[in-house]
Amino acid sequence: MLSKKNVLIVEDSLIDREMLSEILSNTYNVFQAEDGQCALNFLRETKDNISIILLDINMPVMDGYAFLREIKNDSRLSMIPVVITTESNDIDSEIEAFSLGAIDFITKPYNPVIILKHIENFIKFSETNSFIRKYQYDQLTGVYTKEHFYNKVSEILRHSQEEKYVLIATNIENFKLFNDTFGRIEGDKLLVEVSKYFKKHLGNNSILGRFSADRFLCFTTREFVDELRSFGNYNTQIRENVIIRYGVYNIIDKSISVEQMCDRALLVADTIKGQYDTYFAIYDDVLRSTLHRNKLINDTMEEGILKKQFKVYLQPKYSIKDGKIIGCEALVRWEHPILGFLTPGDFIPLFEENGFIFKMNNYVWDEVCSLIASWKNKGIKLLPISVNISRSDCLRCNLGELFRSLVDRYGIDSKYFHVEITENVYVNNPDHIIKSLEEIKNNSFKIEMDDFGSGYSSLNMLSQISVDVLKLDMSFISNETKKTEEESILSDVINMAHRLRLKVVAEGVEEEYQVNRLKNCGCDFAQGYYYAKPMPVEDFLNVLNNN
Ligand code: C2E
Ligand code: CA
Ligand code: CA
Repeated sequence: MLSKKNVLIVEDSLIDREMLSEILSNTYNVFQAEDGQCALNFLRETKDNISIILLDINMPVMDGYAFLREIKNDSRLSMIPVVITTESNDIDSEIEAFSLGAIDFITKPYNPVIILKHIENFIKFSETNSFIRKYQYDQLTGVYTKEHFYNKVSEILRHSQEEKYVLIATNIENFKLFNDTFGRIEGDKLLVEVSKYFKKHLGNNSILGRFSADRFLCFTTREFVDELRSFGNYNTQIRENVIIRYGVYNIIDKSISVEQMCDRALLVADTIKGQYDTYFAIYDDVLRSTLHRNKLINDTMEEGILKKQFKVYLQPKYSIKDGKIIGCEALVRWEHPILGFLTPGDFIPLFEENGFIFKMNNYVWDEVCSLIASWKNKGIKLLPISVNISRSDCLRCNLGELFRSLVDRYGIDSKYFHVEITENVYVNNPDHIIKSLEEIKNNSFKIEMDDFGSGYSSLNMLSQISVDVLKLDMSFISNETKKTEEESILSDVINMAHRLRLKVVAEGVEEEYQVNRLKNCGCDFAQGYYYAKPMPVEDFLNVLNNN
Protein backbone atom coordinates (compact mmCIF):
# COMPACT_ATOMS: atom_id res chain seq x y z
CA MET A 1 0.00 0.00 0.00
CA LEU A 2 1.25 3.45 -0.84
CA SER A 3 1.59 5.52 2.30
CA LYS A 4 -0.38 8.73 2.49
CA LYS A 5 1.37 12.01 1.75
CA ASN A 6 1.69 14.60 4.47
CA VAL A 7 0.00 17.97 4.49
CA LEU A 8 0.61 20.73 7.01
CA ILE A 9 -2.16 23.24 7.76
CA VAL A 10 -1.00 26.49 9.32
CA GLU A 11 -4.03 28.40 10.51
CA ASP A 12 -4.93 30.21 13.73
CA SER A 13 -8.68 29.66 13.46
CA LEU A 14 -9.57 26.32 14.95
CA ILE A 15 -12.76 26.11 12.88
CA ASP A 16 -10.95 26.69 9.58
CA ARG A 17 -8.25 24.24 10.54
CA GLU A 18 -10.74 21.52 11.35
CA MET A 19 -12.71 22.17 8.21
CA LEU A 20 -9.69 21.78 5.97
CA SER A 21 -8.51 18.83 7.93
CA GLU A 22 -11.84 17.11 7.50
CA ILE A 23 -11.71 17.58 3.74
CA LEU A 24 -8.14 16.29 3.46
CA SER A 25 -7.77 13.58 6.04
CA ASN A 26 -9.20 10.77 3.95
CA THR A 27 -6.52 11.29 1.34
CA TYR A 28 -3.61 12.74 3.35
CA ASN A 29 -1.95 12.64 6.71
CA VAL A 30 -2.83 16.02 8.12
CA PHE A 31 -0.63 17.97 10.56
CA GLN A 32 -1.76 21.21 12.11
CA ALA A 33 -0.01 24.31 13.46
CA GLU A 34 -1.74 27.34 14.93
CA ASP A 35 0.76 29.97 13.79
CA GLY A 36 3.93 30.41 11.75
CA GLN A 37 6.25 29.81 14.67
CA CYS A 38 4.59 26.50 15.63
CA ALA A 39 4.77 25.45 12.00
CA LEU A 40 8.47 26.30 11.80
CA ASN A 41 9.23 24.39 14.98
CA PHE A 42 7.30 21.42 13.69
CA LEU A 43 9.05 21.46 10.30
CA ARG A 44 12.49 21.71 11.82
CA GLU A 45 11.88 18.74 14.07
CA THR A 46 9.85 16.40 11.95
CA LYS A 47 11.45 13.61 10.03
CA ASP A 48 8.37 13.27 7.81
CA ASN A 49 8.40 14.56 4.31
CA ILE A 50 5.81 17.30 4.03
CA SER A 51 4.34 17.40 0.52
CA ILE A 52 2.54 20.70 0.81
CA ILE A 53 1.84 23.51 3.29
CA LEU A 54 -1.50 25.30 3.40
CA LEU A 55 -0.76 28.67 4.93
CA ASP A 56 -2.96 31.37 6.37
CA ILE A 57 -1.57 34.90 6.13
CA ASN A 58 -3.04 36.67 9.15
CA MET A 59 -1.97 34.92 12.30
CA PRO A 60 -0.67 35.96 15.71
CA VAL A 61 2.96 35.35 16.84
CA MET A 62 4.31 34.80 13.32
CA ASP A 63 2.19 35.62 10.32
CA GLY A 64 2.27 33.98 6.91
CA TYR A 65 4.72 36.46 5.38
CA ALA A 66 7.23 36.09 8.17
CA PHE A 67 6.89 32.33 7.89
CA LEU A 68 7.55 32.44 4.13
CA ARG A 69 10.60 34.62 4.71
CA GLU A 70 11.98 32.12 7.25
CA ILE A 71 11.63 29.07 5.08
CA LYS A 72 12.97 30.85 2.04
CA ASN A 73 16.37 30.94 3.74
CA ASP A 74 16.34 27.29 4.62
CA SER A 75 17.54 25.15 1.74
CA ARG A 76 15.52 22.13 2.83
CA LEU A 77 12.26 23.84 3.81
CA SER A 78 12.26 26.13 0.81
CA MET A 79 11.67 23.08 -1.35
CA ILE A 80 8.21 22.46 0.16
CA PRO A 81 5.43 24.06 -1.90
CA VAL A 82 3.25 26.54 -0.04
CA VAL A 83 -0.33 27.37 -0.96
CA ILE A 84 -1.95 30.39 0.66
CA THR A 85 -5.45 30.12 2.09
CA THR A 86 -7.36 33.47 2.04
CA GLU A 87 -10.78 34.91 2.61
CA SER A 88 -11.07 36.49 -0.78
CA ASN A 89 -8.89 37.67 -3.59
CA ASP A 90 -6.58 40.35 -2.29
CA ILE A 91 -4.15 41.36 -5.03
CA ASP A 92 -1.56 43.07 -2.81
CA SER A 93 -1.17 40.21 -0.42
CA GLU A 94 -1.08 37.81 -3.34
CA ILE A 95 1.84 39.58 -4.95
CA GLU A 96 3.80 39.72 -1.75
CA ALA A 97 3.17 36.05 -1.02
CA PHE A 98 4.13 35.05 -4.54
CA SER A 99 7.36 36.99 -4.32
CA LEU A 100 8.12 35.14 -1.12
CA GLY A 101 7.74 31.82 -2.86
CA ALA A 102 4.10 30.76 -2.43
CA ILE A 103 2.91 28.83 -5.46
CA ASP A 104 -0.85 29.53 -5.44
CA PHE A 105 -3.97 30.52 -3.53
CA ILE A 106 -7.13 28.79 -2.50
CA THR A 107 -10.01 30.88 -1.28
CA LYS A 108 -12.70 30.37 1.29
CA PRO A 109 -15.36 29.09 1.49
CA TYR A 110 -13.75 25.74 0.74
CA ASN A 111 -15.28 23.47 -1.85
CA PRO A 112 -14.08 19.95 -0.93
CA VAL A 113 -13.97 18.52 -4.43
CA ILE A 114 -12.13 21.48 -5.91
CA ILE A 115 -9.71 21.71 -2.99
CA LEU A 116 -8.77 18.06 -3.22
CA LYS A 117 -8.21 18.28 -6.96
CA HIS A 118 -6.16 21.47 -6.55
CA ILE A 119 -3.94 20.01 -3.91
CA GLU A 120 -3.38 16.85 -5.86
CA ASN A 121 -2.27 18.95 -8.82
CA PHE A 122 -0.01 21.17 -6.72
CA ILE A 123 1.73 18.19 -5.26
CA LYS A 124 2.21 16.54 -8.63
CA PHE A 125 3.48 19.73 -10.16
CA SER A 126 5.91 20.48 -7.40
CA GLU A 127 7.21 16.94 -7.25
CA THR A 128 8.20 17.10 -10.89
CA ASN A 129 9.54 20.53 -10.28
CA SER A 130 11.52 19.61 -7.22
CA PHE A 131 12.89 16.59 -9.00
CA ILE A 132 14.18 18.92 -11.67
CA ARG A 133 15.46 21.30 -9.03
CA LYS A 134 17.24 18.51 -7.25
CA TYR A 135 18.92 17.50 -10.44
CA GLN A 136 19.82 21.02 -11.44
CA TYR A 137 20.62 22.79 -8.21
CA ASP A 138 22.84 21.86 -5.34
CA GLN A 139 20.69 21.49 -2.22
CA LEU A 140 23.09 23.19 0.13
CA THR A 141 24.40 26.14 -1.83
CA GLY A 142 21.85 26.62 -4.57
CA VAL A 143 24.47 26.63 -7.35
CA TYR A 144 24.22 24.18 -10.25
CA THR A 145 24.92 20.52 -9.70
CA LYS A 146 27.90 19.28 -11.63
CA GLU A 147 25.79 17.52 -14.28
CA HIS A 148 23.74 20.60 -14.92
CA PHE A 149 26.86 22.72 -14.93
CA TYR A 150 28.40 20.50 -17.63
CA ASN A 151 25.21 20.78 -19.70
CA LYS A 152 25.00 24.54 -19.41
CA VAL A 153 28.64 25.08 -20.29
CA SER A 154 28.46 22.72 -23.26
CA GLU A 155 25.47 24.63 -24.53
CA ILE A 156 27.24 27.97 -24.34
CA LEU A 157 30.41 26.62 -25.94
CA ARG A 158 28.39 25.19 -28.81
CA HIS A 159 27.09 28.63 -29.64
CA SER A 160 30.22 30.66 -29.09
CA GLN A 161 33.10 31.10 -31.49
CA GLU A 162 35.36 33.11 -29.22
CA GLU A 163 38.25 31.87 -27.17
CA LYS A 164 37.57 34.01 -24.18
CA TYR A 165 36.32 31.54 -21.64
CA VAL A 166 37.98 29.72 -18.79
CA LEU A 167 37.01 27.03 -16.36
CA ILE A 168 38.06 27.56 -12.80
CA ALA A 169 38.03 24.84 -10.18
CA THR A 170 38.39 25.76 -6.55
CA ASN A 171 39.54 23.84 -3.59
CA ILE A 172 39.20 24.81 0.04
CA GLU A 173 42.43 23.89 1.74
CA ASN A 174 42.01 21.36 4.54
CA PHE A 175 38.26 21.33 4.30
CA LYS A 176 38.12 17.81 5.72
CA LEU A 177 40.08 18.95 8.70
CA PHE A 178 37.78 21.95 9.11
CA ASN A 179 34.79 19.60 9.10
CA ASP A 180 36.40 17.28 11.62
CA THR A 181 37.36 20.13 13.90
CA PHE A 182 34.26 22.30 13.82
CA GLY A 183 31.60 19.81 12.78
CA ARG A 184 29.46 19.34 9.73
CA ILE A 185 27.13 22.23 10.41
CA GLU A 186 30.01 24.71 10.48
CA GLY A 187 31.44 23.03 7.40
CA ASP A 188 28.15 23.52 5.59
CA LYS A 189 28.04 27.14 6.67
CA LEU A 190 31.48 27.70 5.27
CA LEU A 191 30.47 26.18 1.95
CA VAL A 192 27.44 28.44 1.76
CA GLU A 193 29.64 31.45 2.53
CA VAL A 194 32.11 30.48 -0.14
CA SER A 195 29.38 29.97 -2.72
CA LYS A 196 27.90 33.36 -1.81
CA TYR A 197 31.30 34.94 -2.24
CA PHE A 198 31.62 33.50 -5.72
CA LYS A 199 28.08 34.50 -6.66
CA LYS A 200 28.76 38.03 -5.50
CA HIS A 201 32.01 38.43 -7.40
CA LEU A 202 31.11 36.71 -10.62
CA GLY A 203 29.60 38.69 -13.42
CA ASN A 204 26.44 37.78 -15.26
CA ASN A 205 28.46 35.95 -17.85
CA SER A 206 29.49 33.32 -15.37
CA ILE A 207 28.11 30.00 -14.31
CA LEU A 208 28.72 28.37 -10.99
CA GLY A 209 28.51 24.72 -10.07
CA ARG A 210 29.43 22.43 -7.23
CA PHE A 211 31.63 19.50 -8.16
CA SER A 212 31.88 17.78 -4.80
CA ALA A 213 32.04 18.61 -1.11
CA ASP A 214 34.37 21.57 -1.11
CA ARG A 215 35.03 21.93 -4.80
CA PHE A 216 33.26 24.47 -6.95
CA LEU A 217 33.43 24.97 -10.67
CA CYS A 218 33.14 28.27 -12.42
CA PHE A 219 32.80 29.04 -16.08
CA THR A 220 33.67 32.61 -16.79
CA THR A 221 35.62 34.99 -19.00
CA ARG A 222 39.36 35.47 -18.92
CA GLU A 223 39.08 39.00 -17.64
CA PHE A 224 37.60 37.64 -14.49
CA VAL A 225 40.68 35.60 -13.81
CA ASP A 226 42.86 38.70 -14.03
CA GLU A 227 40.52 40.47 -11.68
CA LEU A 228 40.63 37.61 -9.21
CA ARG A 229 44.42 37.57 -9.32
CA SER A 230 44.71 41.28 -8.76
CA PHE A 231 42.82 41.00 -5.50
CA GLY A 232 46.10 39.93 -3.95
CA ASN A 233 45.06 38.63 -0.60
CA TYR A 234 41.45 38.11 -1.59
CA ASN A 235 41.62 34.83 0.25
CA THR A 236 41.18 36.42 3.62
CA GLN A 237 38.04 38.12 2.42
CA ILE A 238 35.97 35.04 2.87
CA ARG A 239 37.06 34.06 6.30
CA GLU A 240 40.30 34.26 8.16
CA ASN A 241 42.48 31.18 7.86
CA VAL A 242 40.36 29.76 5.08
CA ILE A 243 42.49 29.33 2.03
CA ILE A 244 41.08 28.71 -1.39
CA ARG A 245 43.16 27.47 -4.30
CA TYR A 246 42.19 28.07 -7.89
CA GLY A 247 42.95 25.88 -10.86
CA VAL A 248 42.39 27.54 -14.21
CA TYR A 249 41.84 25.87 -17.53
CA ASN A 250 41.84 28.14 -20.59
CA ILE A 251 39.32 26.85 -23.08
CA ILE A 252 41.07 26.77 -26.44
CA ASP A 253 40.36 23.32 -27.74
CA LYS A 254 36.62 22.78 -27.77
CA SER A 255 36.92 19.23 -29.01
CA ILE A 256 37.44 17.88 -25.52
CA SER A 257 34.44 17.44 -23.27
CA VAL A 258 33.50 19.93 -20.59
CA GLU A 259 33.95 17.15 -18.08
CA GLN A 260 37.56 16.73 -19.15
CA MET A 261 38.15 20.46 -19.03
CA CYS A 262 36.85 20.48 -15.48
CA ASP A 263 39.05 17.53 -14.57
CA ARG A 264 42.05 19.48 -15.77
CA ALA A 265 41.10 22.54 -13.78
CA LEU A 266 40.57 20.36 -10.73
CA LEU A 267 43.87 18.56 -11.19
CA VAL A 268 45.82 21.74 -11.59
CA ALA A 269 44.24 23.19 -8.45
CA ASP A 270 45.60 20.19 -6.56
CA THR A 271 49.14 20.84 -7.65
CA ILE A 272 49.42 23.94 -5.44
CA LYS A 273 47.97 22.34 -2.33
CA GLY A 274 49.83 23.44 0.75
CA GLN A 275 52.00 26.00 -1.01
CA TYR A 276 52.56 29.04 1.08
CA ASP A 277 51.64 31.87 -1.27
CA THR A 278 50.40 30.35 -4.48
CA TYR A 279 46.68 30.46 -4.97
CA PHE A 280 46.51 30.10 -8.73
CA ALA A 281 47.68 27.47 -11.09
CA ILE A 282 47.06 27.48 -14.79
CA TYR A 283 46.88 24.28 -16.73
CA ASP A 284 49.41 24.11 -19.52
CA ASP A 285 51.05 21.37 -21.51
CA VAL A 286 54.02 20.85 -19.22
CA LEU A 287 51.71 20.31 -16.34
CA ARG A 288 49.52 18.24 -18.52
CA SER A 289 52.01 15.45 -18.95
CA THR A 290 52.93 15.22 -15.27
CA LEU A 291 49.31 15.42 -14.28
CA HIS A 292 48.42 12.71 -16.69
CA ARG A 293 51.18 10.58 -15.42
CA ASN A 294 50.14 11.11 -11.84
CA LYS A 295 46.56 10.37 -12.62
CA LEU A 296 47.57 7.22 -14.42
CA ILE A 297 49.61 6.15 -11.41
CA ASN A 298 46.64 6.84 -9.21
CA ASP A 299 44.30 4.86 -11.42
CA THR A 300 46.57 1.85 -11.71
CA MET A 301 48.06 1.47 -8.23
CA GLU A 302 45.46 -0.96 -6.88
CA GLU A 303 45.90 -3.13 -9.92
CA GLY A 304 49.66 -2.93 -9.41
CA ILE A 305 49.27 -4.67 -6.07
CA LEU A 306 46.76 -7.22 -7.32
CA LYS A 307 48.90 -8.15 -10.30
CA LYS A 308 52.12 -8.14 -8.30
CA GLN A 309 53.73 -5.49 -10.48
CA PHE A 310 55.64 -4.15 -7.49
CA LYS A 311 59.00 -5.88 -7.15
CA VAL A 312 61.32 -5.99 -4.23
CA TYR A 313 64.93 -5.18 -5.15
CA LEU A 314 67.73 -5.80 -2.74
CA GLN A 315 70.83 -3.70 -2.18
CA PRO A 316 73.55 -5.38 -0.11
CA LYS A 317 75.23 -3.74 2.85
CA TYR A 318 78.90 -4.52 3.34
CA SER A 319 81.19 -4.68 6.29
CA ILE A 320 83.86 -2.07 5.50
CA LYS A 321 86.56 -4.00 7.32
CA ASP A 322 86.39 -7.26 5.36
CA GLY A 323 83.96 -6.62 2.51
CA LYS A 324 81.51 -9.26 3.70
CA ILE A 325 77.79 -8.78 3.03
CA ILE A 326 76.05 -8.34 6.37
CA GLY A 327 72.52 -7.70 5.20
CA CYS A 328 70.53 -5.80 2.63
CA GLU A 329 67.85 -3.21 2.14
CA ALA A 330 64.58 -3.92 0.36
CA LEU A 331 63.81 -1.20 -2.18
CA VAL A 332 60.62 -1.28 -4.16
CA ARG A 333 60.29 -1.00 -7.94
CA TRP A 334 57.19 -0.92 -10.09
CA GLU A 335 57.10 -2.71 -13.40
CA HIS A 336 54.35 -0.56 -14.79
CA PRO A 337 52.46 -1.93 -17.80
CA ILE A 338 52.25 1.51 -19.46
CA LEU A 339 54.93 3.68 -17.87
CA GLY A 340 57.63 1.06 -17.75
CA PHE A 341 60.14 0.54 -14.98
CA LEU A 342 59.52 2.98 -12.15
CA THR A 343 61.75 3.75 -9.17
CA PRO A 344 60.34 4.90 -5.83
CA GLY A 345 60.84 8.59 -6.60
CA ASP A 346 58.22 8.23 -9.34
CA PHE A 347 55.42 7.01 -7.15
CA ILE A 348 56.20 7.09 -3.42
CA PRO A 349 55.61 10.83 -2.99
CA LEU A 350 52.22 10.37 -4.65
CA PHE A 351 51.38 7.42 -2.46
CA GLU A 352 52.38 9.38 0.62
CA GLU A 353 49.93 12.01 -0.44
CA ASN A 354 47.00 9.82 -1.38
CA GLY A 355 47.42 7.41 1.52
CA PHE A 356 48.18 4.37 -0.60
CA ILE A 357 51.67 4.13 0.88
CA PHE A 358 50.47 2.00 3.78
CA LYS A 359 49.01 -0.58 1.45
CA MET A 360 52.10 -0.63 -0.72
CA ASN A 361 54.43 -0.91 2.26
CA ASN A 362 52.38 -3.76 3.65
CA TYR A 363 52.80 -5.50 0.35
CA VAL A 364 56.58 -5.03 0.47
CA TRP A 365 56.83 -6.16 4.09
CA ASP A 366 54.85 -9.25 3.25
CA GLU A 367 57.02 -10.02 0.22
CA VAL A 368 60.17 -9.63 2.31
CA CYS A 369 58.92 -12.03 4.98
CA SER A 370 57.85 -14.50 2.36
CA LEU A 371 61.32 -14.24 0.83
CA ILE A 372 63.08 -14.88 4.14
CA ALA A 373 60.79 -17.86 4.76
CA SER A 374 61.58 -19.32 1.34
CA TRP A 375 65.35 -18.89 1.92
CA LYS A 376 64.94 -20.58 5.24
CA ASN A 377 63.19 -23.52 3.57
CA LYS A 378 65.90 -23.80 0.93
CA GLY A 379 68.62 -23.75 3.57
CA ILE A 380 70.15 -20.50 2.35
CA LYS A 381 72.17 -18.69 5.01
CA LEU A 382 69.93 -15.93 6.35
CA LEU A 383 70.88 -12.25 6.60
CA PRO A 384 68.75 -9.43 7.93
CA ILE A 385 66.68 -7.54 5.36
CA SER A 386 65.73 -3.97 6.16
CA VAL A 387 62.40 -2.55 5.06
CA ASN A 388 61.43 1.10 4.87
CA ILE A 389 58.53 2.53 6.80
CA SER A 390 56.86 5.85 6.22
CA ARG A 391 55.92 8.42 8.71
CA SER A 392 52.21 7.87 8.19
CA ASP A 393 52.59 4.14 8.84
CA CYS A 394 53.50 4.97 12.43
CA LEU A 395 50.28 6.88 12.85
CA ARG A 396 48.19 4.15 11.30
CA CYS A 397 48.50 1.30 13.74
CA ASN A 398 50.73 -0.46 16.22
CA LEU A 399 53.56 -1.37 13.85
CA GLY A 400 55.27 -3.52 16.46
CA GLU A 401 52.26 -5.82 16.63
CA LEU A 402 51.82 -5.77 12.88
CA PHE A 403 55.43 -6.89 12.26
CA ARG A 404 55.19 -9.42 15.03
CA SER A 405 52.14 -11.13 13.55
CA LEU A 406 53.76 -10.98 10.12
CA VAL A 407 56.97 -12.78 11.10
CA ASP A 408 54.99 -15.26 13.22
CA ARG A 409 52.76 -16.05 10.29
CA TYR A 410 55.81 -16.81 8.14
CA GLY A 411 57.58 -18.60 10.98
CA ILE A 412 60.72 -16.46 10.83
CA ASP A 413 62.93 -14.94 13.50
CA SER A 414 62.43 -11.19 14.06
CA LYS A 415 66.19 -10.68 13.97
CA TYR A 416 66.07 -11.03 10.17
CA PHE A 417 63.56 -8.22 9.76
CA HIS A 418 64.98 -4.73 10.28
CA VAL A 419 63.05 -1.50 10.05
CA GLU A 420 64.40 1.71 8.52
CA ILE A 421 62.78 4.95 9.46
CA THR A 422 63.89 8.28 8.12
CA GLU A 423 65.16 10.84 10.58
CA ASN A 424 62.69 13.41 9.24
CA VAL A 425 59.71 11.63 10.76
CA TYR A 426 61.01 12.64 14.11
CA VAL A 427 60.62 16.36 13.49
CA ASN A 428 56.89 17.00 13.65
CA ASN A 429 55.42 14.45 15.94
CA PRO A 430 58.21 13.18 18.21
CA ASP A 431 56.01 11.73 20.96
CA HIS A 432 54.00 9.63 18.62
CA ILE A 433 57.04 8.44 16.74
CA ILE A 434 58.88 7.58 19.94
CA LYS A 435 55.92 5.48 21.06
CA SER A 436 55.71 3.78 17.71
CA LEU A 437 59.41 2.97 17.71
CA GLU A 438 59.17 1.62 21.24
CA GLU A 439 56.40 -0.73 20.15
CA ILE A 440 58.60 -1.98 17.35
CA LYS A 441 61.54 -2.46 19.71
CA ASN A 442 59.37 -4.21 22.29
CA ASN A 443 58.62 -6.80 19.66
CA SER A 444 62.37 -7.27 19.27
CA PHE A 445 62.91 -5.78 15.84
CA LYS A 446 66.03 -3.76 15.10
CA ILE A 447 65.57 -0.16 14.05
CA GLU A 448 67.82 1.74 11.67
CA MET A 449 67.70 5.53 11.59
CA ASP A 450 67.69 6.37 7.90
CA ASP A 451 69.01 9.45 6.06
CA PHE A 452 70.84 10.76 9.09
CA GLY A 453 72.47 14.10 8.40
CA SER A 454 70.16 15.00 5.54
CA GLY A 455 67.79 17.21 7.44
CA TYR A 456 67.17 18.52 10.88
CA SER A 457 68.71 15.72 12.81
CA SER A 458 70.40 16.42 16.06
CA LEU A 459 72.61 13.97 17.82
CA ASN A 460 70.55 14.74 20.87
CA MET A 461 67.57 12.96 19.39
CA LEU A 462 69.54 9.72 19.31
CA SER A 463 69.65 9.63 23.06
CA GLN A 464 65.88 10.02 23.20
CA ILE A 465 64.86 7.25 20.87
CA SER A 466 66.07 3.73 20.86
CA VAL A 467 67.58 2.90 17.51
CA ASP A 468 70.19 0.26 16.81
CA VAL A 469 71.78 1.46 13.62
CA LEU A 470 72.55 4.89 12.23
CA LYS A 471 72.48 5.26 8.46
CA LEU A 472 74.46 8.28 7.36
CA ASP A 473 72.81 9.93 4.39
CA MET A 474 74.48 9.97 1.00
CA SER A 475 74.65 13.78 0.90
CA PHE A 476 76.32 13.82 4.29
CA ILE A 477 78.87 11.24 3.24
CA SER A 478 79.56 13.04 0.01
CA ASN A 479 80.04 16.43 1.71
CA GLU A 480 82.13 15.20 4.59
CA THR A 481 84.47 13.02 2.56
CA LYS A 482 85.29 16.02 0.37
CA LYS A 483 86.60 17.94 3.37
CA THR A 484 89.99 17.36 4.97
CA GLU A 485 90.04 15.05 7.97
CA GLU A 486 90.56 18.01 10.31
CA GLU A 487 87.58 19.91 8.94
CA SER A 488 85.20 17.00 8.72
CA ILE A 489 82.90 15.94 11.53
CA LEU A 490 82.51 12.46 10.10
CA SER A 491 84.62 10.71 12.70
CA ASP A 492 83.01 12.71 15.53
CA VAL A 493 79.56 11.61 14.48
CA ILE A 494 80.68 8.00 14.15
CA ASN A 495 82.39 8.07 17.56
CA MET A 496 79.35 9.59 19.12
CA ALA A 497 77.13 6.91 17.59
CA HIS A 498 79.47 4.20 18.89
CA ARG A 499 79.33 5.68 22.37
CA LEU A 500 75.54 5.31 22.15
CA ARG A 501 76.17 1.70 21.12
CA LEU A 502 74.88 2.19 17.59
CA LYS A 503 76.31 0.58 14.50
CA VAL A 504 76.94 2.96 11.60
CA VAL A 505 76.09 2.40 7.94
CA ALA A 506 77.29 4.85 5.29
CA GLU A 507 74.79 5.24 2.45
CA GLY A 508 75.40 6.10 -1.17
CA VAL A 509 79.08 5.24 -1.16
CA GLU A 510 80.27 5.57 -4.75
CA GLU A 511 84.05 6.10 -4.66
CA GLU A 512 87.03 4.25 -3.34
CA TYR A 513 88.40 7.29 -1.49
CA GLN A 514 85.12 7.43 0.42
CA VAL A 515 85.55 3.81 1.48
CA ASN A 516 89.09 4.52 2.69
CA ARG A 517 88.02 7.54 4.65
CA LEU A 518 85.08 5.67 6.21
CA LYS A 519 87.42 2.86 7.20
CA ASN A 520 89.74 5.36 8.90
CA CYS A 521 86.86 6.87 10.79
CA GLY A 522 85.76 3.49 12.11
CA CYS A 523 82.51 3.29 10.15
CA ASP A 524 81.07 -0.23 10.39
CA PHE A 525 79.14 -0.79 7.18
CA ALA A 526 78.60 0.71 3.76
CA GLN A 527 75.95 0.55 1.08
CA GLY A 528 76.28 2.12 -2.32
CA TYR A 529 77.02 1.82 -6.01
CA TYR A 530 80.72 1.36 -5.25
CA TYR A 531 79.76 -2.06 -3.97
CA ALA A 532 76.48 -2.86 -5.67
CA LYS A 533 73.28 -1.31 -6.94
CA PRO A 534 69.84 -2.49 -5.84
CA MET A 535 69.09 -5.66 -7.80
CA PRO A 536 66.48 -8.36 -8.32
CA VAL A 537 66.42 -11.16 -5.77
CA GLU A 538 68.06 -13.78 -8.04
CA ASP A 539 71.00 -11.45 -8.76
CA PHE A 540 71.37 -10.76 -5.09
CA LEU A 541 71.66 -14.49 -4.38
CA ASN A 542 74.46 -14.75 -6.97
CA VAL A 543 76.32 -11.80 -5.45
CA LEU A 544 75.90 -13.37 -2.04
CA ASN A 545 77.29 -16.66 -3.30
CA ASN A 546 80.40 -15.04 -4.72
CA ASN A 547 80.97 -12.88 -1.67
P1 C2E B 1 66.56 5.26 0.94
O1 C2E B 1 65.85 4.45 1.94
O2 C2E B 1 67.50 6.29 1.44
O3 C2E B 1 67.23 4.26 -0.05
C1 C2E B 1 68.46 4.46 -0.62
C2 C2E B 1 68.33 5.01 -2.00
O4 C2E B 1 69.61 5.39 -2.47
C3 C2E B 1 67.84 3.98 -3.00
O5 C2E B 1 67.11 4.67 -3.98
C4 C2E B 1 69.11 3.46 -3.61
O6 C2E B 1 68.93 2.94 -4.90
C5 C2E B 1 69.93 4.72 -3.66
N1 C2E B 1 71.36 4.44 -3.66
C6 C2E B 1 72.01 3.47 -3.00
N2 C2E B 1 73.33 3.56 -3.20
C7 C2E B 1 73.53 4.62 -4.02
C8 C2E B 1 74.69 5.25 -4.59
O7 C2E B 1 75.82 4.84 -4.39
N3 C2E B 1 74.48 6.31 -5.37
C9 C2E B 1 73.25 6.80 -5.61
N4 C2E B 1 73.11 7.87 -6.40
N5 C2E B 1 72.12 6.26 -5.09
C10 C2E B 1 72.28 5.17 -4.29
P2 C2E B 1 65.71 4.17 -4.43
O8 C2E B 1 65.67 2.70 -4.48
O9 C2E B 1 65.37 4.95 -5.63
O10 C2E B 1 64.79 4.61 -3.22
C11 C2E B 1 64.59 5.94 -2.95
C12 C2E B 1 63.86 6.09 -1.67
O11 C2E B 1 62.54 5.58 -1.79
C13 C2E B 1 64.46 5.31 -0.52
O12 C2E B 1 65.49 6.03 0.00
C14 C2E B 1 63.28 5.20 0.40
O13 C2E B 1 63.14 6.38 1.16
C15 C2E B 1 62.13 5.10 -0.55
N6 C2E B 1 61.71 3.71 -0.66
C16 C2E B 1 62.20 2.72 -1.41
N7 C2E B 1 61.50 1.58 -1.22
C17 C2E B 1 60.55 1.87 -0.31
C18 C2E B 1 59.50 1.11 0.30
O14 C2E B 1 59.31 -0.08 0.07
N8 C2E B 1 58.72 1.78 1.20
C19 C2E B 1 58.91 3.09 1.50
N9 C2E B 1 58.11 3.66 2.37
N10 C2E B 1 59.87 3.81 0.94
C20 C2E B 1 60.70 3.21 0.05
CA1 CA C 1 66.09 3.28 3.56
CA1 CA D 1 68.53 6.49 3.18
